[in-house]
Amino acid sequence: MPELPDVETLARRLRRSLVGRRIRRARVLNPGTVRSPSPDRFVRRLRGRRVVAVDRRGKYLLITLEGGLMLLVHLRMTGDLEITSARERLDPYTRVVFALDGRGQAGRELRFVDQRRFGHMDLLPAVALEDFSPLVRMGAEPLAKAFTPAAFRSLLVGRRGTLKPFLLRQDVVAGIGNLYADEILFQARLHPGRRVESLRPAEVRRLHEAIRQVLRRATAGLSRSGRPVGDILPARERGGICPRCGRVLALTRLGGRATYFCPSCQRPGRGRRGDPARLGKG
Ligand SMILES: [Zn+2]
Repeated sequence: MPELPDVETLARRLRRSLVGRRIRRARVLNPGTVRSPSPDRFVRRLRGRRVVAVDRRGKYLLITLEGGLMLLVHLRMTGDLEITSARERLDPYTRVVFALDGRGQAGRELRFVDQRRFGHMDLLPAVALEDFSPLVRMGAEPLAKAFTPAAFRSLLVGRRGTLKPFLLRQDVVAGIGNLYADEILFQARLHPGRRVESLRPAEVRRLHEAIRQVLRRATAGLSRSGRPVGDILPARERGGICPRCGRVLALTRLGGRATYFCPSCQRPGRGRRGDPARLGKG
């Protein structure tokens, strides 16, 4: 399931190959993929538009088109955008096809492939973006300069709840999904079941540092080799071993999501009454 590093990597790749090119024609193969406007209007409005910029916000891909239009793409579970030759056989899960004009290499297409069909697109006037509720409600951008330790600390003021589901909230910090939340908590040496309100200042600093570092490393790894870089990531399976201490990882469910952590490196710590680390040790 694509998370911030995957979408960021895709945005960078598309920026290199798409900016400056024109969409000759769009074809909607699965009408449900286009949320707004109607597929007919979608096709008509895209015709002949040049791509001006490709950006990312949270897990949204933002493709700016000339004439003040913005194409917003969310990959959800299985979505992906690929640029291929128009001669290439169409993947059976292709939902939308954008024929591109050539810059010496005519016959290229941008294809939205999405097996599970949860992915979606909206084509909006860029000025309407400030009313587009998924973006309006979106939380801090963790790779942005503005995401400082102080900014993160202020986001936590007055918050309560379990730490892992809290990290998955797109309206607090945008872009973190299930896999990288586990990696972040592992790097910060924090138990996923900790209460947010119990975090001490040093732990908040570690968490902030881990968010930045994990997302940066994963993005760099994905752009370099197509594989994310993480320590607990490859061990996230039954019987997986902690890369730091060699103990078998624990598996639990938090907020309905499978959660892997090391019971030795990520102690529950303070703030959880009756936890085994406090009662049973020694
Ligand atoms: Zn460990």
